[in-house]
Amino acid sequence: MKKMIHLLFAGILASTSALAGATDKLKLYTIDCGVIKVSDMDVFSSSGDYAKQKATLASTCFLISHPAGNLLWDTGLPGSLINEEPAVNGVFTLSLDKTIITQLAEIDLTANDINFVSISHSHFDHVGQISSFPTATWLVNNKEKNAMFASDELKVQNAGFNGLKQKTFDGDYDVFGDGSVKILAMPGHTKGHTVLQLMLEDTGPVLISGDLYHQAKSRALKRVPRFNVDEPETRKSFDHFEKTVKELNAKVIIQHERNDVEKLPELPSFLQ
Ligand SMILES: [Zn+2]
Repeated sequence: MKKMIHLLFAGILASTSALAGATDKLKLYTIDCGVIKVSDMDVFSSSGDYAKQKATLASTCFLISHPAGNLLWDTGLPGSLINEEPAVNGVFTLSLDKTIITQLAEIDLTANDINFVSISHSHFDHVGQISSFPTATWLVNNKEKNAMFASDELKVQNAGFNGLKQKTFDGDYDVFGDGSVKILAMPGHTKGHTVLQLMLEDTGPVLISGDLYHQAKSRALKRVPRFNVDEPETRKSFDHFEKTVKELNAKVIIQHERNDVEKLPELPSFLQ
Protein backbone atom coordinates (compact mmCIF):
# COMPACT_ATOMS: atom_id res chain seq x y z
CA MET A 1 0.00 0.00 0.00
CA LYS A 2 2.78 2.37 1.02
CA LYS A 3 4.59 1.63 -2.22
CA MET A 4 1.42 2.24 -4.21
CA ILE A 5 0.88 5.61 -2.57
CA HIS A 6 4.50 6.47 -3.24
CA LEU A 7 4.12 5.52 -6.92
CA LEU A 8 0.90 7.50 -7.18
CA PHE A 9 2.56 10.53 -5.63
CA ALA A 10 5.55 10.20 -7.95
CA GLY A 11 3.13 10.03 -10.85
CA ILE A 12 1.37 13.21 -9.75
CA LEU A 13 4.72 14.96 -9.35
CA ALA A 14 5.80 13.83 -12.81
CA SER A 15 2.61 15.02 -14.44
CA THR A 16 2.74 18.31 -12.51
CA SER A 17 6.28 19.02 -13.63
CA ALA A 18 5.39 18.02 -17.21
CA LEU A 19 2.54 20.50 -17.00
CA ALA A 20 4.81 23.20 -15.59
CA GLY A 21 7.20 22.56 -18.48
CA ALA A 22 4.36 22.90 -20.95
CA THR A 23 3.15 26.18 -19.49
CA ASP A 24 6.67 27.64 -19.65
CA LYS A 25 6.70 27.27 -23.40
CA LEU A 26 5.72 30.10 -25.68
CA LYS A 27 2.25 29.51 -27.12
CA LEU A 28 0.65 30.86 -30.26
CA TYR A 29 -3.15 31.03 -30.37
CA THR A 30 -4.95 31.93 -33.61
CA ILE A 31 -7.89 34.32 -33.29
CA ASP A 32 -10.54 34.74 -36.00
CA CYS A 33 -10.75 38.48 -36.64
CA GLY A 34 -13.27 38.36 -39.51
CA VAL A 35 -13.67 37.72 -43.21
CA ILE A 36 -13.02 40.16 -46.06
CA LYS A 37 -14.58 39.36 -49.43
CA VAL A 38 -13.05 41.33 -52.26
CA SER A 39 -15.10 41.87 -55.43
CA ASP A 40 -12.15 43.14 -57.46
CA MET A 41 -8.58 42.35 -56.39
CA ASP A 42 -7.10 45.06 -58.63
CA VAL A 43 -6.19 47.19 -55.58
CA PHE A 44 -3.87 44.40 -54.42
CA SER A 45 -1.48 44.58 -57.38
CA SER A 46 0.14 47.68 -58.85
CA SER A 47 1.04 45.47 -61.85
CA GLY A 48 -2.64 45.35 -62.92
CA ASP A 49 -2.76 41.56 -63.18
CA TYR A 50 -5.38 41.07 -60.42
CA ALA A 51 -8.06 43.16 -62.17
CA LYS A 52 -11.56 41.65 -61.99
CA GLN A 53 -10.39 38.71 -59.85
CA LYS A 54 -12.43 37.95 -56.73
CA ALA A 55 -11.03 36.61 -53.46
CA THR A 56 -11.94 35.88 -49.88
CA LEU A 57 -9.35 36.96 -47.36
CA ALA A 58 -9.15 35.90 -43.73
CA SER A 59 -8.63 38.56 -41.09
CA THR A 60 -6.47 36.99 -38.42
CA CYS A 61 -5.16 38.09 -35.04
CA PHE A 62 -2.89 36.18 -32.68
CA LEU A 63 -2.38 35.79 -28.96
CA ILE A 64 1.20 35.08 -27.96
CA SER A 65 1.38 33.71 -24.46
CA HIS A 66 4.83 34.03 -22.86
CA PRO A 67 5.57 33.16 -19.21
CA ALA A 68 6.19 36.89 -18.64
CA GLY A 69 2.95 38.10 -20.24
CA ASN A 70 0.41 37.98 -23.05
CA LEU A 71 0.78 39.86 -26.34
CA LEU A 72 -2.14 40.43 -28.70
CA TRP A 73 -0.96 40.88 -32.29
CA ASP A 74 -3.47 42.90 -34.35
CA THR A 75 -7.05 43.65 -33.37
CA GLY A 76 -8.96 42.83 -36.56
CA LEU A 77 -12.22 44.12 -37.96
CA PRO A 78 -14.44 46.34 -35.79
CA GLY A 79 -16.58 44.63 -33.14
CA SER A 80 -19.57 46.67 -34.41
CA LEU A 81 -19.85 44.16 -37.30
CA ILE A 82 -21.06 41.44 -34.90
CA ASN A 83 -24.66 40.34 -35.48
CA GLU A 84 -24.93 42.65 -38.48
CA GLU A 85 -25.35 41.96 -42.15
CA PRO A 86 -21.93 41.98 -43.89
CA ALA A 87 -20.84 45.60 -44.40
CA VAL A 88 -20.01 46.74 -47.92
CA ASN A 89 -17.17 49.24 -48.20
CA GLY A 90 -16.12 49.77 -51.83
CA VAL A 91 -14.74 46.45 -53.14
CA PHE A 92 -14.71 45.00 -49.60
CA THR A 93 -17.53 43.09 -47.89
CA LEU A 94 -16.73 42.67 -44.22
CA SER A 95 -18.10 40.27 -41.65
CA LEU A 96 -17.21 39.19 -38.13
CA ASP A 97 -18.58 36.14 -36.26
CA LYS A 98 -16.91 36.50 -32.86
CA THR A 99 -15.08 39.30 -31.10
CA ILE A 100 -11.56 38.82 -29.76
CA ILE A 101 -12.96 39.12 -26.22
CA THR A 102 -15.42 36.24 -26.84
CA GLN A 103 -12.61 34.07 -28.16
CA LEU A 104 -10.27 34.92 -25.26
CA ALA A 105 -13.03 33.74 -22.91
CA GLU A 106 -12.72 30.28 -24.51
CA ILE A 107 -9.25 30.06 -22.92
CA ASP A 108 -10.36 31.74 -19.67
CA LEU A 109 -8.77 35.10 -20.41
CA THR A 110 -10.27 38.57 -20.20
CA ALA A 111 -9.14 41.91 -21.63
CA ASN A 112 -7.19 42.55 -18.41
CA ASP A 113 -5.00 39.51 -19.12
CA ILE A 114 -3.66 41.17 -22.27
CA ASN A 115 -0.45 42.86 -21.10
CA PHE A 116 0.72 44.05 -24.50
CA VAL A 117 -0.98 44.85 -27.77
CA SER A 118 0.80 45.52 -31.03
CA ILE A 119 -0.47 46.03 -34.57
CA SER A 120 1.32 45.06 -37.77
CA HIS A 121 0.08 48.39 -39.16
CA SER A 122 -2.77 50.82 -38.71
CA HIS A 123 -5.19 49.86 -41.51
CA PHE A 124 -8.86 49.49 -40.51
CA ASP A 125 -8.84 45.68 -40.56
CA HIS A 126 -6.00 45.54 -38.00
CA VAL A 127 -7.12 48.13 -35.46
CA GLY A 128 -10.89 47.46 -35.24
CA GLN A 129 -11.11 46.13 -31.67
CA ILE A 130 -8.33 48.15 -29.99
CA SER A 131 -10.77 49.88 -27.63
CA SER A 132 -11.54 46.49 -26.02
CA PHE A 133 -8.05 46.49 -24.41
CA PRO A 134 -7.73 49.72 -22.41
CA THR A 135 -5.31 48.29 -19.83
CA ALA A 136 -2.76 46.88 -22.31
CA THR A 137 0.54 48.55 -23.13
CA TRP A 138 0.72 49.44 -26.81
CA LEU A 139 4.04 48.42 -28.40
CA VAL A 140 4.53 50.59 -31.46
CA ASN A 141 7.17 51.52 -33.99
CA ASN A 142 7.66 55.31 -33.86
CA LYS A 143 7.19 55.71 -37.61
CA GLU A 144 3.78 54.02 -37.53
CA LYS A 145 2.68 55.96 -34.47
CA ASN A 146 3.69 59.30 -36.01
CA ALA A 147 1.82 58.46 -39.23
CA MET A 148 -1.30 57.47 -37.28
CA PHE A 149 -1.68 60.93 -35.73
CA ALA A 150 -0.40 63.05 -38.63
CA SER A 151 -3.74 64.75 -39.40
CA ASP A 152 -6.93 65.68 -37.57
CA GLU A 153 -8.82 63.04 -39.53
CA LEU A 154 -6.30 60.34 -38.56
CA LYS A 155 -6.38 61.48 -34.92
CA VAL A 156 -10.13 60.84 -34.87
CA GLN A 157 -9.74 57.53 -36.72
CA ASN A 158 -7.12 56.29 -34.24
CA ALA A 159 -8.69 57.70 -31.09
CA GLY A 160 -9.02 54.14 -29.71
CA PHE A 161 -5.27 54.20 -29.02
CA ASN A 162 -5.47 57.32 -26.86
CA GLY A 163 -5.04 56.60 -23.18
CA LEU A 164 -3.12 53.35 -23.69
CA LYS A 165 0.21 53.02 -21.96
CA GLN A 166 2.83 53.04 -24.69
CA LYS A 167 6.24 51.59 -25.39
CA THR A 168 7.61 53.16 -28.56
CA PHE A 169 10.69 51.99 -30.42
CA ASP A 170 12.71 52.46 -33.59
CA GLY A 171 13.74 49.47 -35.71
CA ASP A 172 13.14 46.02 -34.22
CA TYR A 173 11.84 45.33 -30.71
CA ASP A 174 12.46 42.29 -28.50
CA VAL A 175 9.18 42.10 -26.53
CA PHE A 176 10.25 39.93 -23.58
CA GLY A 177 14.02 40.50 -23.81
CA ASP A 178 14.83 36.83 -24.48
CA GLY A 179 14.69 36.83 -28.30
CA SER A 180 11.58 34.62 -28.41
CA VAL A 181 9.15 37.32 -29.59
CA LYS A 182 10.45 40.10 -31.81
CA ILE A 183 8.62 42.84 -33.70
CA LEU A 184 10.58 43.43 -36.92
CA ALA A 185 10.45 46.71 -38.84
CA MET A 186 9.40 45.95 -42.43
CA PRO A 187 8.17 49.32 -43.69
CA GLY A 188 6.65 50.25 -47.03
CA HIS A 189 3.04 49.08 -46.93
CA THR A 190 2.67 51.75 -44.25
CA LYS A 191 5.41 53.97 -42.80
CA GLY A 192 6.10 51.73 -39.82
CA HIS A 193 4.69 48.37 -40.93
CA THR A 194 5.94 45.47 -38.78
CA VAL A 195 6.18 41.68 -38.87
CA LEU A 196 6.21 39.34 -35.86
CA GLN A 197 8.99 36.80 -35.35
CA LEU A 198 8.43 33.95 -32.89
CA MET A 199 10.83 31.26 -31.75
CA LEU A 200 8.42 28.45 -30.79
CA GLU A 201 10.06 25.55 -29.01
CA ASP A 202 8.38 22.65 -30.84
CA THR A 203 7.19 24.32 -34.05
CA GLY A 204 10.40 26.26 -34.60
CA PRO A 205 10.77 29.83 -35.88
CA VAL A 206 7.63 31.46 -37.29
CA LEU A 207 7.19 34.74 -39.14
CA ILE A 208 3.74 36.35 -39.08
CA SER A 209 3.51 38.58 -42.12
CA GLY A 210 1.25 41.48 -41.21
CA ASP A 211 0.25 42.79 -44.65
CA LEU A 212 3.71 42.68 -46.19
CA TYR A 213 1.91 40.08 -48.32
CA HIS A 214 -1.88 39.73 -48.50
CA GLN A 215 -1.89 36.31 -50.19
CA ALA A 216 0.53 33.44 -50.88
CA LYS A 217 0.20 34.40 -54.54
CA SER A 218 1.36 37.95 -53.84
CA ARG A 219 4.42 36.57 -52.06
CA ALA A 220 5.26 34.25 -54.97
CA LEU A 221 4.71 36.98 -57.58
CA LYS A 222 6.13 39.83 -55.41
CA ARG A 223 3.05 41.97 -55.95
CA VAL A 224 2.68 45.32 -54.21
CA PRO A 225 -0.82 46.67 -53.53
CA ARG A 226 -1.95 49.99 -54.97
CA PHE A 227 -2.74 51.14 -51.40
CA ASN A 228 0.85 51.25 -50.24
CA VAL A 229 2.94 54.22 -49.10
CA ASP A 230 6.34 53.34 -50.58
CA GLU A 231 6.84 50.61 -53.20
CA PRO A 232 10.71 50.59 -53.22
CA GLU A 233 10.64 50.38 -49.40
CA THR A 234 8.12 47.50 -49.59
CA ARG A 235 10.38 45.66 -52.03
CA LYS A 236 13.32 46.11 -49.63
CA SER A 237 11.13 44.65 -46.89
CA PHE A 238 10.26 41.68 -49.17
CA ASP A 239 14.02 40.99 -49.43
CA HIS A 240 14.54 41.43 -45.68
CA PHE A 241 11.63 39.08 -44.95
CA GLU A 242 12.78 36.36 -47.36
CA LYS A 243 16.37 36.59 -46.07
CA THR A 244 15.07 36.14 -42.51
CA VAL A 245 12.90 33.16 -43.56
CA LYS A 246 15.96 31.52 -45.10
CA GLU A 247 18.34 32.26 -42.23
CA LEU A 248 15.95 30.94 -39.57
CA ASN A 249 14.32 28.27 -41.74
CA ALA A 250 11.10 29.90 -40.52
CA LYS A 251 7.53 28.93 -41.24
CA VAL A 252 5.49 31.78 -42.71
CA ILE A 253 1.92 32.70 -41.79
CA ILE A 254 0.28 35.24 -44.11
CA GLN A 255 -2.51 36.68 -41.98
CA HIS A 256 -5.00 37.24 -44.83
CA GLU A 257 -4.22 33.93 -46.60
CA ARG A 258 -6.98 31.44 -45.79
CA ASN A 259 -4.83 28.45 -46.79
CA ASP A 260 -2.26 29.43 -44.15
CA VAL A 261 -4.79 30.21 -41.43
CA GLU A 262 -6.89 27.06 -41.97
CA LYS A 263 -3.85 24.91 -41.16
CA LEU A 264 -3.43 26.48 -37.71
CA PRO A 265 -4.96 24.95 -34.57
CA GLU A 266 -8.35 26.35 -33.59
CA LEU A 267 -8.94 27.71 -30.10
CA PRO A 268 -8.50 26.44 -27.44
CA SER A 269 -5.62 24.60 -29.17
CA PHE A 270 -2.36 26.37 -29.90
CA LEU A 271 1.08 25.96 -31.39
CA GLN A 272 4.06 25.87 -29.09
ZN1 LIG B 1 -5.05 43.81 -43.73
